[in-house]
Amino acid sequence: MFANRGLEIKTPAQIDQMRVSGLLVGRTLELLRDAARPGVTTGDLDRLAETHIRDHGGIPSFKGYSHPPFPATICASVNDEVVHGIPGDRVLQDGDVVSIDCGAIVDGWHGDAAITVPIGDVAAETLELLRVTEESLWRGLAAAHLGGRVSDIGHAIEGYVRTQGHYGILEDYTGHGIGTEMHMAPNVPNYGKRGKGPTLVEGLALAVEPMVTLGSKETDLLEDEWTVATVDGSMAAHFEHTFTLTPAGAWVLTAVDGGAARLAELGAAYGGR
Ligand code: MG
Ligand code: MG
Repeated sequence: MFANRGLEIKTPAQIDQMRVSGLLVGRTLELLRDAARPGVTTGDLDRLAETHIRDHGGIPSFKGYSHPPFPATICASVNDEVVHGIPGDRVLQDGDVVSIDCGAIVDGWHGDAAITVPIGDVAAETLELLRVTEESLWRGLAAAHLGGRVSDIGHAIEGYVRTQGHYGILEDYTGHGIGTEMHMAPNVPNYGKRGKGPTLVEGLALAVEPMVTLGSKETDLLEDEWTVATVDGSMAAHFEHTFTLTPAGAWVLTAVDGGAARLAELGAAYGGR
């Protein structure tokens, strides 16, 4: 257990507070999913998100983050952009997919989640990429058990993706611990052997976020110093949830139903309260 030194372990009451920020993020993403359609700009989605978060007592956690400071409430990454796209005047077109990543702070506690949304009529292989990536996230969450290890999650993600076809899984970007800060130890890779890394204990909160492409796993950082795009221009998908483990099972803090439905489909125990 010494590998768990330096990890932020929350009390049940603090996890309950993280559920408040997680729900706000989850509900904001549902709003954005409904709003994302041909003709809408990524900046329109960003304004909707900021208004919704602030109206519900939250603070957008991405705004002003790092250097150069991220300028917006959401990351909006279109097509070959994988993560960290800056919203703006780009008009979503029929056939696009947009990854929307959203973070909020309520009373000092962070939530972080992402969805990738098809816009209009999207190619079948791209829709399949979205399905595989989202399912891999849930397989990863379902593989997490108290007393297990962090790498059990990435092992399940990679294992699922590899059975579904020839996809690229990003290795240069990972999930992360989360709580009083958005990005905390440990890293949560989306690949690897099981049984490695910190032990999964009650009170640990993790953001799990597979990033998968139709081609290469290699990426470039664009000139805006934020946007991460595939080197080969292939389409990418990104799904993310913040979750924790209680004695009863997994509790997906950024899923509106706490993850109950998807965990049940996978035969995994639901630990929400
Ligand atoms: Mg995120
Ligand atoms: Mg994250």
